Amino acid sequence: MKVFKFGGASVKDAAGVRNMANVLKHFALDDLLIVVSAMGKTTNALEAVVWGYCDGAEVADKVAALRASHLSILAEVAPDDVTAAAELILRFDQLGTSLKRVPSGNVDREYDAIVSQGEIWSTLIVSAYLRHAGIANTWLDARTVVRTDDTYRSARIDWSSSEGLSATVLSEVPTKPVRVVTQGFIGCNSEGETTTLGREGSDFSAAIFAYLLDAESVTIWKDVPGMFNADPKLFPDTRLLSHISYREAIELSYFGASVIHPRTLQPLQKKHIPLYVRSFMDLAAPGSTIDDRSENDSLVPSFIVKPKQLLISITPRDLSFIVEENLSDIFKQFADRNIRIDLMQNSAVAFSVSAEDTPRSRQLIEELRKDYEVRYNEGCELITVRHFDDATLGMLTSGREVLLEQRSRSTARFVVK
Ligand code: ASP
Ligand code: MG
Repeated sequence: MKVFKFGGASVKDAAGVRNMANVLKHFALDDLLIVVSAMGKTTNALEAVVWGYCDGAEVADKVAALRASHLSILAEVAPDDVTAAAELILRFDQLGTSLKRVPSGNVDREYDAIVSQGEIWSTLIVSAYLRHAGIANTWLDARTVVRTDDTYRSARIDWSSSEGLSATVLSEVPTKPVRVVTQGFIGCNSEGETTTLGREGSDFSAAIFAYLLDAESVTIWKDVPGMFNADPKLFPDTRLLSHISYREAIELSYFGASVIHPRTLQPLQKKHIPLYVRSFMDLAAPGSTIDDRSENDSLVPSFIVKPKQLLISITPRDLSFIVEENLSDIFKQFADRNIRIDLMQNSAVAFSVSAEDTPRSRQLIEELRKDYEVRYNEGCELITVRHFDDATLGMLTSGREVLLEQRSRSTARFVVK
């Protein structure tokens, strides 16, 4: 069994959906489980629905626009499939009904119930199209397999329950060769409530399914031909990382390389399942291979820029030392709000962190101010360079104000303005 993942960009319109059949033709004999994200920018649009709904605003027009665009793509790719159209309409009607209820007050739970619909819609369309193109397939609700805890919006996987569920559910798949179409990003807790795995979490879903199925490989089909040593959209002269280790890929994605979701690699590494990152637009391009055979061939300088950072400096009001006690209090406040610390450093009396600038992190600053003196710099960038050399560091920091710097043997990191 192979696992394929198609992201939002690959299914953003009818042409994208049709191109999937092109990709699948090359793997006609393989058993495949296909993980699909929401189409294009649907998840962002659904987030706007959630915020509006929770604020008591009118969101019907936003939902109507999503309904129209999805139904029109379905009509283009599978014009005669009345069953699929009815199914899609039913899902939109159900969403419409649920949006008439009074919000529960648990915003994250509402978020997951609403935002997860994007993946349901996209997979219904993809499955209908593949059927239309003569590729028999089984639509699978990922929530019947991916069991999570109830940390809404960044749920943790319950691996042993998911293993049990996948054995039963996936053994019942009738199509041969196996063609399962399922959703990325979503799961279900033990109460049957929908959860999500965090933005861009469909890569992770592909890895979860691969792990559960003991798949022979995972391929992430993207609009870029692989993993690069820097974002080709931001820098000229980037290089393809054609073969790198899990370890290196984990480091790069953890530091913010957006090609792969950071949680994707661990399950694959555990079962030695290789990950291929390939272009759905250029099937002949070799792409990147990530596996455990290649510790040493990934030493070109790679750099990642995270924009929109807040550099926050936290000092006890009485200038007492920053010690384990107040550190654990500070960490807890970040963890409770689900705010990721992208970089940290401490001195005798100050603890500095770099974190993404979001409404949540702004709230946290206000909270922390009750007990600490908190100062911050906004509009910062966090630059991480793996396998750095002087030329690369110079290129990235010249003309910038470096507010904080950290170096280990393999990694240099800077918060700059
Ligand atoms: N649709 C979700 C998102 O945009 C998950 C994903 O694309 O991986 O975040
Ligand atoms: Mg997406």
